[in-house]
Amino acid sequence: MEELKQRILKEGKVIIPEILKVDNFLNHQLDPALFQKIGAEFKKRFQDEKIDKILTIEASGIALALATAYNMDHIPVVFAKKGIHSNIGKDLYISKIHSYTKQEDYLAFVSKSYLHKGEKVLIIDDFLANGQAVLGLLDILKQAGCSCVGVGIAIEKGFQKGRSYIESKNCKVESLVIIDRFEGDKVILR
Ligand code: 5GP
Repeated sequence: MEELKQRILKEGKVIIPEILKVDNFLNHQLDPALFQKIGAEFKKRFQDEKIDKILTIEASGIALALATAYNMDHIPVVFAKKGIHSNIGKDLYISKIHSYTKQEDYLAFVSKSYLHKGEKVLIIDDFLANGQAVLGLLDILKQAGCSCVGVGIAIEKGFQKGRSYIESKNCKVESLVIIDRFEGDKVILR
């Protein structure tokens, strides 16, 4: 997606170790016009799929998922919450995820009220690195008896293993921009 590429090249900042900061338009300050276009692009990429729900994970996935849902006849968006919850127990689907940015494990959970057996679900997230967040969401879908129709990612770091892990689970990945590599503080896109 050309506009997203240009924003990354112009405003993205590479921080150590191998993290792209895009707080200016995606992860802190949000650009609604850009999000609208991202939503429309995801709609185009998954137009052949029947989708009942979008699943994402807090926090940065939520706005992207909502922008996508507005473009897809306002289908419901469910987001996995992070952290231990006081009513942890049998009303929740829970998965342990390793955070790439924080280098620590956390629990993500979704209430059983919001995912139902047989539903076809599109996963949306901001970044794909080693795929741990998406694998956690796939685990939650499996527990719920839902199927994944695909994974839509705004920015994929193509030099990391996320895509191959997800594709090995027979899940289609669509990324709007793929980063080939970082050269110092320079971002090289595919
Ligand atoms: P993964 O689970 O695929 O290893 O990492 C993806 C998650 O880590 C995303 O949800 C995102 O929040 C965060 N992440 C991974 N790499 C980056 C990055 O380079 N920049 C930013 N802003 N977040 C990242």
